[in-house]
Amino acid sequence: MHDGEGPNFTVDPKNGLSHCHSQCGQGWNILSLEAALSGKSTKEALADVLQIIGRNSSSVGQLGVSDWSMEILTKRIREIEEKGKLRHVTNYYYRGADGNLVWVKCRFVDENGEKTFRSFAITKRGSWRTPRKEGVPPLLYRLPEVLAAEEEDLVNGEEAADAGARLGRVTTCLPTGECNWNPEFTKFLSGKIVNL
Ligand SMILES: [Zn+2]
Repeated sequence: MHDGEGPNFTVDPKNGLSHCHSQCGQGWNILSLEAALSGKSTKEALADVLQIIGRNSSSVGQLGVSDWSMEILTKRIREIEEKGKLRHVTNYYYRGADGNLVWVKCRFVDENGEKTFRSFAITKRGSWRTPRKEGVPPLLYRLPEVLAAEEEDLVNGEEAADAGARLGRVTTCLPTGECNWNPEFTKFLSGKIVNL
């Protein structure tokens, strides 16, 4: 923190509290330390800390979507379950480079246990349309993490990508299956190491 060279910085690994025993004489918690080191606000530091520990992936609060919009989406999902005799399994959130949600890919299983998907793009007013009607840009899964990394694993499907992320890897997949490359994806990976 003060560009010192002596061994005067201590961290308690149980609670993350740190202290400079030299010039600063200051103490920090994880957030205030990250904010001080990066020069960012505490809010931005929180986002960075969550990213570092791999906890920001699918949490709705990080998506910039209102509770109201999420309630509408939940209602749509319930309708699909009833009409299509499907059971909802999980949601995969496709975010833009800014981290904001662009569309949600909802995973269902049918009566035979076969997986099936429905996608919804969020509109400017916070409602939902099909991505085709809304005209969303082509995105890779977990795009903000991909853009921030120098190396990533390109895997088959969101389930595998999330599993890889839980293991601490930067992972991505194509939104419509592994054989559906869109030339627009190239710019996201250009110059990086991509493990297939
Ligand atoms: Zn110091």
